Amino acid sequence: MKKILVFSLLLTILSCSACTRVSFPDTGVKIDVDASYDGAGELTYRESLSFRVDGPIRLNLFVNAYAQPETVTAGEQERLTAYPSGFRPGGIVLSDVTLNGRPALLRLSEDRCCAQVLAPAADGERAVLSFSAVVTVPEARTRFGRWNGVASLAGCFVSLARSERRTVAFGDPFVTETADYTLRLSLPEELTAATGGVRVREQTENGRRLLTVRASCRRELAVCVLTAGQEKSEQRQGVTLRSYGADGALPGVRTMLDRLRSVAPFPYEELAIVRCGFYAGGMEYPGLILIGEDFFGDETVLSRIAAHETAHQYFYGAVGSDQILEPWVDESLVEFLCLESEKQFASEYRDRLAAYVSDAALRGERPRLAVSGSLYDYADTTEYVYAVYIHGCMMWRAVYDLIGEKAFADGLRRYYQENAFGLADGDRLIDAFSAAAGLDLRPIFASYLNA
Ligand SMILES: [Zn+2]
Repeated sequence: MKKILVFSLLLTILSCSACTRVSFPDTGVKIDVDASYDGAGELTYRESLSFRVDGPIRLNLFVNAYAQPETVTAGEQERLTAYPSGFRPGGIVLSDVTLNGRPALLRLSEDRCCAQVLAPAADGERAVLSFSAVVTVPEARTRFGRWNGVASLAGCFVSLARSERRTVAFGDPFVTETADYTLRLSLPEELTAATGGVRVREQTENGRRLLTVRASCRRELAVCVLTAGQEKSEQRQGVTLRSYGADGALPGVRTMLDRLRSVAPFPYEELAIVRCGFYAGGMEYPGLILIGEDFFGDETVLSRIAAHETAHQYFYGAVGSDQILEPWVDESLVEFLCLESEKQFASEYRDRLAAYVSDAALRGERPRLAVSGSLYDYADTTEYVYAVYIHGCMMWRAVYDLIGEKAFADGLRRYYQENAFGLADGDRLIDAFSAAAGLDLRPIFASYLNA
């Protein structure tokens, strides 16, 4: 009971001071897309990407992870659920690539999820890269896929890649910087799009719906295409919440918006929440949340998924981090922010982790529990979840118990304000909380990060 009180106090502190809206910084990267979706799994577009050259030019082609079963973000066991009708390949093919108007070649990475642009370009020079793309959206219950009338076009609009990284079958295996997007999207008239941006124009013409969407300072522009007429909207703290068949998720979204109110204003103008086929729960994109239809039956579970993905709008969306090498930086923090009670902590974290470790010991195994692993370090989804989410949440609980609610709230605010719209890392996160507490918290973090 005492701890429930402590958590309630945390909520009070986090919501009692007022903040003004953060304006978007200049990203220096403009992405302009003219796209058409046929309503049956094919998206075609022409993209123009304007940026300042800083080293090798690489493109993020993450949706090519869906070209073969081995690289989709679903482990071997999960694939039966993700592809109820059997595996269907999806992916992206680029053509007519030009850099500053001259033809350029692409060199694809081994897993085809990254491409290097082979063209002369000097560091510091502003460049315009243009290309055409054909995206095949697979029939699948994955974060990129179409199921039951909803096509999730997440990851389809190509952004610059920081580095070439092999993709992994679990977690969120991509790292992206922010860009300013303008999307013009043509759809069959009976369809519409939920997006992570703001719809600035809409018209219908010759049986097509034409949407213009602006999305500033997004790590990606995610779009879901679905039947028109299902949208419901409401205002919460100056943010437009748009529900697409996902009204049941709104209580969890509202709870987290209220909880994080004093950390910073919501990072974007709008938040779209889409009920779709996604088999694994929820998935966050800047300004857009996907929630799988299977999770709408249980209010508690649904609220928790919605709250978790809403917290990601701040920690992943606004404050980015390396989700491949340091997935704990956003995931463990977001998981802790969703904690509601001592009872929940005991049953879903502490006792569950103890049972997991003792079951493994009976089999003569010792699972990896270090919270700090990269996606490459964990054997599978289960090991990843126990280490990063469950053990990670216990790490934050230990920090919270040590420094108290006020320093925790100060640390969270400091971390956000120092890193909003950039890419942070574990050191910056620990430094922010250490500064807020007036204590070097490295040893307590290290005892979980390197356990
Ligand atoms: Zn998450």
